[in-house]
Amino acid sequence: MGQIITLDQNMINMIAAGEVIERPASVVKELMENSIDVGATKITVSIEDGGRKLISVTDDGCGMDAEDLAKAFEPHTTSKIRNSDDLHNISTLGFRGEALASIASIAQVKAVSRTKDSAAASCIEIDCGNEGAVRACSADFGTTIQVRDLFYKLPARRKFLKTANTEISHIIEQFTRIALGCHFVGDAFQKSNERKQPNPQSSSAASRSLNLALIHNGRELYRLSGNQGLRRRIAELFPILSVGTYEDFIEAESDEKGLHISVLLGTPNCSKTTSKFQYIFLNGRFIRDKFISHAIKEAYRGLVEPDRFPVAFLFIQMPYEDYDVNVHPTKIEVRFYNSNLVYSQVLACLREKLLSTNLEVRAKLPVAASVLAKEIAPAAGRRNQNIADAIAEFLKKHRPAQTSPQAGFTARNYYPAAKSGVSVEYAADRPASSGLPQTIAEQRNFIQIHDSFIVAQTEDGFVIIDQHALHERILYEHLCKRIAAGRLESQKLLIPESFELAAGQADVIEEHAELFEKLGIELAPFGPRTMAIQAFPTLLANAAPTDFVQDLIGLLDHKETALNAEKLLDEVLNMAACKGAIKAGQKLSNSEIEQLLADRAYTESASRCPHGRPTTIRFSMTDLEKQFKRT
Ligand code: ADP
Ligand code: MG
Repeated sequence: MGQIITLDQNMINMIAAGEVIERPASVVKELMENSIDVGATKITVSIEDGGRKLISVTDDGCGMDAEDLAKAFEPHTTSKIRNSDDLHNISTLGFRGEALASIASIAQVKAVSRTKDSAAASCIEIDCGNEGAVRACSADFGTTIQVRDLFYKLPARRKFLKTANTEISHIIEQFTRIALGCHFVGDAFQKSNERKQPNPQSSSAASRSLNLALIHNGRELYRLSGNQGLRRRIAELFPILSVGTYEDFIEAESDEKGLHISVLLGTPNCSKTTSKFQYIFLNGRFIRDKFISHAIKEAYRGLVEPDRFPVAFLFIQMPYEDYDVNVHPTKIEVRFYNSNLVYSQVLACLREKLLSTNLEVRAKLPVAASVLAKEIAPAAGRRNQNIADAIAEFLKKHRPAQTSPQAGFTARNYYPAAKSGVSVEYAADRPASSGLPQTIAEQRNFIQIHDSFIVAQTEDGFVIIDQHALHERILYEHLCKRIAAGRLESQKLLIPESFELAAGQADVIEEHAELFEKLGIELAPFGPRTMAIQAFPTLLANAAPTDFVQDLIGLLDHKETALNAEKLLDEVLNMAACKGAIKAGQKLSNSEIEQLLADRAYTESASRCPHGRPTTIRFSMTDLEKQFKRT
């Protein structure tokens, strides 16, 4: 009897705080979002002791008068929505009206605010829910909110806070998300924003230039200027990604069916072991969405190895009424009303761009001077530098006159089929002999080294090709095309090859009879536990039939339940390409190399093998000249 009581408002706030405020970084997020929502162009975040001691956020936004300042810290108070219709059209980052009340219930808070047209500022102090009176004070326009001693009356929560280093790293992550979400986005994006923002008066900062600073224990960690471009901002936030180097990042954009997508994609070469470097923003809000993450993964299928994650900064703009943000207390997840559309638009935008971009890996050469110095005399530093400089000087002086590329040295000769669209013999396309004896280099612009790699000259340098990886990619695409068109061509074996079946394998063959037929593999029983291979696909002429069929049965045996038909077929074709491809260590004739190079020109994603490893590394003349200090 009488066991149930109504919780007082402060308890309610503290409970709400449990959902929204997990650690200092959550406070930083809520306060920065508030500043953005009120139109700030400058936000300074000051932290002490990882946020345990102090979190202070100052902005130059619209500010609050005395009445609003007192109200802002009461529960369920907001200026951002008024009725249920507004809930379906949320253009601000916040709308639940509970962040300030929650924060004030678990810390000592001091807020100072002044609107632009008021002469004096107002100030309020709240100690774990005990609200003091609003006083007049003097301050610049805008708002400063200081949060001290977070969780100090909740020892259980405070105990869970980690070291200052860990807490500041969480704060940096929140700061980064906000800094990217509201970055100044450049021309193309800008135009699209103007067109797309359903509510032009909206205080959403997706198209605003915002100056941001983050200071920890008096040391400035970031100072981001409002008019820097996206690349610059990412480069400052993620120095390790070398976003500044244009070759490593690709921009893509699409604008269809009310959905604007703008994305900065890392090349497969700078993929990571975690998905930490995938940032998705929806109308300026950082979100997590497993469908979109999957679309990114799919877009890179075959371009990065399966256990690696591409780097991607993805910005989506769409009408606010097309999704619901009111599904998660910290709004990190949203519900799209048409998630299939979002998925397919993202996939198409990324995939198209990736397939039409030359993703060859550029060689990363060591710094020229140190290489020379090391090779000449490993011990004496300064002297080596002098020698290196002297050599460079010599090379510079004795540099031969620049010549235009000679006939027979251009890329056209590698890919003789470029004109007709079909593979033809290299010799047929060679320019008519001028009568002069051709040098070896003129006849052939490639060599095979260690029977594994092909070094081939290109118009502006040379490439090193992994013969197995490239042939694997070519074969994979051939196989996919043929299978899509029906079945693989096969050839009867003159002498059928037979092999023993292990227990259960006959069933596997029977179950996948259709797949065997598609692949052009004909099998016939040859005794109680023996099978004979009677026909085998011509495309896989390089593979040993028995080995291949046995491995195929092994694969089908293990994978059958886990994968759907399409994925299974893809795995089979992957395996077939790997087994049917030229091996490393296999000597190739010149015409085989020519064929390989010719096929390369017609293969989509030729820069990566089907497992996502690079097939080609490109060296440019500029790189070489730099190395030899010719420039
Ligand atoms: P919400 O952001 O969901 O509205 P909050 O509790 O975070 O809820 O904030 C309550 C209200 O206080 C906001 O709606 C806004 O009107 C006001 N407010 C909060 N922060 C600021 C600020 N930095 N400048 C001006 N007004 C603010
Ligand atoms: Mg808020």
